[in-house]
Amino acid sequence: MFARDLFRSSCSVNVQESADFKVALAGNPNVGKSTIFNALTGLKQHTGNWTGKTVECSSGKAVIKDKCYLFTDLPGTYSMNDFSEEEEVTRNFLATEKIDCVIIVVDSNIIERNLSFVLEVLSLQKEAVLCLNLCDEAEKNGVNIDVDELSLNLGIPVVCTCATKKSGINELKNVLGKICLGETKCFRVERNFTGIDVLDKEKHKLNSEMLAKKSKEICEKTVSYNTDPKKRDNCSLDKILTSKALGIPVMLVLFAALFWITAVGANYPSEWLSILFNYIKDELYILFEMIAVPHFLTGILIDGVYTTLTWVVSVMLPPMAIFFPLFSLIEDSGYLPRIAFNLDKFFARCGAHGKQSLTMAMGIGCNACGVTGCRIIESPSERLIAVVTNNFMPCNGRFPTLIAIIMMFFAGSAFGLIASFKVAVILLCIIVGCVLVTLGVSKLLSVTLLKGQKSGFALELPPYRKPQILKTVIRSLLDRTIFVLGRAVIVAAPAGAIIWLTANIYVGDSSVLSYCTNFLDPFGRMIGLDGVIVMAFILGFPANEIVVPIIIMSYMSSTTMMEYSSYEQLLELLSANGWTVITAVCMIIMCIMHFPCSTSCLTIKKETASIKWTIFSAVMPTVMGIILCFIVSNIMKIFI
Ligand code: GDP
Repeated sequence: MFARDLFRSSCSVNVQESADFKVALAGNPNVGKSTIFNALTGLKQHTGNWTGKTVECSSGKAVIKDKCYLFTDLPGTYSMNDFSEEEEVTRNFLATEKIDCVIIVVDSNIIERNLSFVLEVLSLQKEAVLCLNLCDEAEKNGVNIDVDELSLNLGIPVVCTCATKKSGINELKNVLGKICLGETKCFRVERNFTGIDVLDKEKHKLNSEMLAKKSKEICEKTVSYNTDPKKRDNCSLDKILTSKALGIPVMLVLFAALFWITAVGANYPSEWLSILFNYIKDELYILFEMIAVPHFLTGILIDGVYTTLTWVVSVMLPPMAIFFPLFSLIEDSGYLPRIAFNLDKFFARCGAHGKQSLTMAMGIGCNACGVTGCRIIESPSERLIAVVTNNFMPCNGRFPTLIAIIMMFFAGSAFGLIASFKVAVILLCIIVGCVLVTLGVSKLLSVTLLKGQKSGFALELPPYRKPQILKTVIRSLLDRTIFVLGRAVIVAAPAGAIIWLTANIYVGDSSVLSYCTNFLDPFGRMIGLDGVIVMAFILGFPANEIVVPIIIMSYMSSTTMMEYSSYEQLLELLSANGWTVITAVCMIIMCIMHFPCSTSCLTIKKETASIKWTIFSAVMPTVMGIILCFIVSNIMKIFI
């Protein structure tokens, strides 16, 4: 009970925003609502083949035939029972907001299962249109739907769409226009089929059986199958991918392959970009000298801003640009829920929920997204466990740092096939380690601070879908590039300027930077690091991407070496500043176990509405990281 109250159920959309008409998109999860939303608005809302991906409302405007429409994509729900957060958000929104039309999106393959929700929405007596999406799949699967009959039975217009190919979208827009302009008043069927009052929770529960009965009745009249539906649902791939013996090994091999492709693919563009950026840097020095730019300005702009910015772009971007499109393809294929299914027993033993593995997968991209995604977990205590532990998954600000350290210290001198395998295997071990730490901490929390009720494991396994390769790759690539570049400009560039200034402003004999690093040095050494690294983690609070550039710049300010165009040169710089394998191992540990970045902290605060849990989420991993680094570095010192 207590934890549930910590979470806000919110729909962040301001429907009062000016528009001629307000339209909501509602439906079961994973029916293609976001894809329809994107097709209608031209926006790029995240889509993916798994249930629970959309937990927040999003809105977007579009002008159709000179009228401005505000579309709101509601979280996918199976009913409006008010059991889960999404159900509450959807129910409140549909029941209380002034909406001109609801687009109810259903999966044409499983129309009977979707129809109960349709009937519930219709009971609200709002203008609506039924969107039969995934028509292409339904056709392939031999599902025949009598659209006119269905429309007559429901009392609303019905439109067939294939959102991914944008077919049927124009018709949907036409029908929508007619409804909003009041031109479609031909349907006069009594819509409250079962006498349900969705706002009365008790009566609603009593009526759910009637709802199912009515859905079945309508389906019998309107849907026929060319093939046996039971046979259709049986997917032979699942016999392998979710089998007890093979499920987890296949998953590990898949991720190892993903990491390997990332390591091999990222190495070369990283090097090319570094060479290019260093060339430009030299040219910039010459240019600045020619136009007699003052020395300190050259320092701030080239050694500070430019160096940090180009580091983030050359080292962070290539692995991200390879890993995330591939990951999106896996997501689009429908494999992620299978991972949750395979791992559920481990999570259950640790007092957590299998769906947590989905939020962890989102955390690899961005912890703030992972934390928001935790809304898919129904039990408040399990949800809070997932929120607090999400930070153990390295986000895209830390992931490339891990790759860089592994490449420099553990892959061997020449980067070849063997080295790339080593990187992939070590990275896989680190990620498995992150999962184990998450499980361990979850267990500890579930028996101490966060004892609570368990939610049942109702996870829908969506059908496997052939991912839209080109579209997914290009979209993901662009999004990632823009994201990394955006962060580089907003956070890394100013951070670079500040670090350069602190390294070059002297008080007495020492720079401000060295005062700080010297102060932190004893503590840093105690845990296998040094003052510079500790300071870099502290200053990296706005974004993890800047931790390594800060380290590089701090070292450069005290070293004569001014260039690095490859991991080898970077390794030289780090070694010259006392880095050993022990430092590298402790850096990896600290990279995984320290406070979340500022954005993630704000998101945790928003999701839990609790300062206490936000502070806990930051302090707990940091303390764990410090203790682990202390133990590991001291043990390693004995052997090395
Ligand atoms: P939501 O959870 O309801 O918002 O669903 P999404 O819009 O994220 O779509 C779920 C999955 O179905 C994604 O992998 C989409 O690419 C895919 N999808 C959506 N509409 C169609 C369609 O009409 N045909 C096919 N074949 N796939 C679709």
